[in-house]
Amino acid sequence: MRLRGGYNIAVTGRPSREVEVLPEPDVLYLPLRSRRFAFTELCVKDGQRVRPGDVIAADPKNFGVPLLAPRAGTIRLHASDGHVVIEGAAASAEQQYDPEADIPHVPKDPGEADRKRRQLLALGAWQFFSDAHTGMLPDPFGTPRAVIVSTLQLEPFQTRGDVQIGKRLVDFTRGLEHIQSLLERRDAPVGRLRRATGTSLHQPIHLVFPRVNSRLGAELRERLRGHAWVNIVHVPLRYPFDNFRLLARYLGLKPNPKEPVWAVQTGGVLAVDRALTRHLPCTVRLVSLGGPGVMDPKHLKAMPGYPISRILDGRLKDGTVRVLNGGGLTAAALPPGQLGLDVECSGLTVLPEHTEREFLGFMRPGFDRVSYSKAFMSCVLPIALRHTTALRGELRPCVSCGYCEEVCPAGIMPHLIHKYLYRDGLEEAEAARVDLCVGCGLCSFVCPSKIELCGQMLDAQQRISRELHAQEEQP
Ligand code: SF4
Ligand code: SF4
Repeated sequence: MRLRGGYNIAVTGRPSREVEVLPEPDVLYLPLRSRRFAFTELCVKDGQRVRPGDVIAADPKNFGVPLLAPRAGTIRLHASDGHVVIEGAAASAEQQYDPEADIPHVPKDPGEADRKRRQLLALGAWQFFSDAHTGMLPDPFGTPRAVIVSTLQLEPFQTRGDVQIGKRLVDFTRGLEHIQSLLERRDAPVGRLRRATGTSLHQPIHLVFPRVNSRLGAELRERLRGHAWVNIVHVPLRYPFDNFRLLARYLGLKPNPKEPVWAVQTGGVLAVDRALTRHLPCTVRLVSLGGPGVMDPKHLKAMPGYPISRILDGRLKDGTVRVLNGGGLTAAALPPGQLGLDVECSGLTVLPEHTEREFLGFMRPGFDRVSYSKAFMSCVLPIALRHTTALRGELRPCVSCGYCEEVCPAGIMPHLIHKYLYRDGLEEAEAARVDLCVGCGLCSFVCPSKIELCGQMLDAQQRISRELHAQEEQP
């Protein structure tokens, strides 16, 4: 498959390269749910003292992935619904990994070959991995077919890969070496047979890098010289060419549940290095704070549980805003009851909330409107524009402009599938390959009729597997 479509939206509010280290919090609100995880198995009691790196809870449905205490403090289980609160939070020496410690749901003695994987799971580094095709957490003890490492984050307002690497190129390269050490093929033929068949001892690592000349790129290439197991893949700097499902297809790696493709971004590689070189828990991450509702968009060094109100305090422009957990095109609004950053949060996007409908909004030329269709005066301005939650006029039927098809990186026709779904034609939508949609959100963004195409595509995927293929999936 070739890369096609895609679109970079010129909007204000992208985080600068600056990284601010947030002040130490005195209380942490650790959400027990995140996009993939539900930490339903509590491992602490109310009033218990914890140290940094202690296991607070585990997700039994995701290989026992742990929720770790980022700071020392006293546990409060009933102080806030859906959270474990750490009162009197304080930085103190982090505990090094104890290979003898028990981890819920993980065999005590998995054998030498799996020692490193167990360590990654215990120290919170495994949470950075996903299955490239499904986006879910892969089995830490499974055998991947390949690993895709991406240095790109192209969705507006997300944490930038180059900022994450920063001056940690040595750590990043060492992280790649650690990942390679996890990939020894158990079925590889030995000796002459291996040489004759040209079989590698390790599964490949595909390192995705932007197709641009940069100092960082040159340095990384120099460091990786001689690392034949890394295949550097250059892609254009265009959203959503950082999408793992798309990249797996581009690399010809078809879905196969028995041989998944692992996917990890820059932050994950650095977490692997921290866990396997320094044997320390990975409880701090780089989080972007961006969007036109923020006065000074930048990157923040924060930990799960950090109070969101404290992050936003004094940083927002006037007016009502909507805070999203993630980037500007695919993220969902932060649930009203969520008080702290969750373990998967990589960025907060703040958009000005438009509560009033504009009178005849669709007819006004709009200098401040982001428009793919060149329908507004904004198209003649060579400047980045404001991204808001405004619908800008009424919902309208499809006008067959074809923009959604033009930007779609999956090569499908969202407008056609929309029409099939409108008359409940699930089989027709399946035949039109709605399954190829990667949920990038570009079709919804460019649609001049403001049809929520992306949501419809993802909903149709679920309905197809539930309503058309439920019987096939039964054992
Ligand atoms: S149909 Fe899916 S892949 Fe195509 S633009 Fe829309 S959300 Fe992206
Ligand atoms: S972008 Fe919207 S209006 Fe244009 S063809 Fe697609 S669904 Fe129809």
